[in-house]
Amino acid sequence: MIDVTLESVSKRFPRAGDSAAVDNVDISIAAGEFFTLLGPSGCGKTTTLRMVAGFYFPTLGRIRFGQEDVTHRPPNKRDTGMVFQNYALFPHMSVAQNVAYGLKIRKVGRIESRRRVDEALGQVHLAGYGDRRIDQLSGGQQQRVALARALVIRPRTLLLDEPLSNLDAKLREETRVEIRRIQQAAGTTAIYVTHDQAEAMAMSDRIAVMESGRVRQIGAPQEIYHRPATAFVARFIGRSNVLSLPVIAADAESVTVGLPGSGEIVVAAPADHGLRQGETALVSVRPEHLSLTASTTPGALVGRVTELEFTGMATNLIIDTGGEQVQAAAIDVPAGIAVGDQVGLRLNRERMWVVRP
Ligand code: ADP
Ligand code: MG
Repeated sequence: MIDVTLESVSKRFPRAGDSAAVDNVDISIAAGEFFTLLGPSGCGKTTTLRMVAGFYFPTLGRIRFGQEDVTHRPPNKRDTGMVFQNYALFPHMSVAQNVAYGLKIRKVGRIESRRRVDEALGQVHLAGYGDRRIDQLSGGQQQRVALARALVIRPRTLLLDEPLSNLDAKLREETRVEIRRIQQAAGTTAIYVTHDQAEAMAMSDRIAVMESGRVRQIGAPQEIYHRPATAFVARFIGRSNVLSLPVIAADAESVTVGLPGSGEIVVAAPADHGLRQGETALVSVRPEHLSLTASTTPGALVGRVTELEFTGMATNLIIDTGGEQVQAAAIDVPAGIAVGDQVGLRLNRERMWVVRP
């Protein structure tokens, strides 16, 4: 295992117009860390991972493994193990032959190779499957063969690009636990790519949230969930309302904002918020942190119910406050509330947070 650093890394593809696929990205991944690149399709996750693997070279910037500068080193000189969405296994070879492939290229002897293939199959809970043909395995088992094939070379970093996308929902949840367990046991630094925020939250030590080629925030799952840096991160991780509210006063770590109708509320803010009186603050609040109350309650946000959906655990509502469509997920909804009713929303200021645009 080794630490991996991306320093001001950009990638522009020829004939791809003005925008960079990856734009000035700085990431430091600790040795043994499970680090995830998360973001919507096209935000630059795969391009970033391929630069770490050596399949693309950056247009600008440097990549280091430990102290070594690997920026322009070819893939086969980097000691990385790759796992892709579409397994990329050789269908005409046995499981053992597939796993042994990287060792054969590295000219590892037959006896040592056998031992390491058995060890890798054991790691992914496929001991005894060596002689099976690939097409005799389920999708989840094939993905574990791909993982064994990556691990068998004892890579310094394990790179995984949406490895669970081809599995059905239940298997996806089981396999993500497995991947995390195997990575922990092997102690390998892992860089994982996904567009699925729940997957990223469940598996990762830290996450980099990407948008349009840029990293918008890096942090532990809880940090990104509770203290999103931008409106995009707040909406992409789980669900969130981002309210535009007038700034009445501001200090180093909080902002007092006015509420529509009447009242004001003090909301925690990052130290670099830069907001001043008279400006508009963006305040993130999650649907589960709003509760329903009478529209006459002082300090409540008042609006009309435009959608109402009972899910068993909670009732999801959309409330039009005149301009903003506020989502609420309420556990206790007074009986008889219906679309068209005027209601109040009580905000939990402990769970509100100022975000950047
Ligand atoms: P993600 O993996 O997050 O979906 P990608 O890294 O694949 O995103 O792509 C980022 C951007 O770079 C996209 O706009 C994509 O169209 C562009 N891109 C990716 N690969 C190439 C390529 N080989 N040539 C030109 N443009 C590319
Ligand atoms: Mg991709």
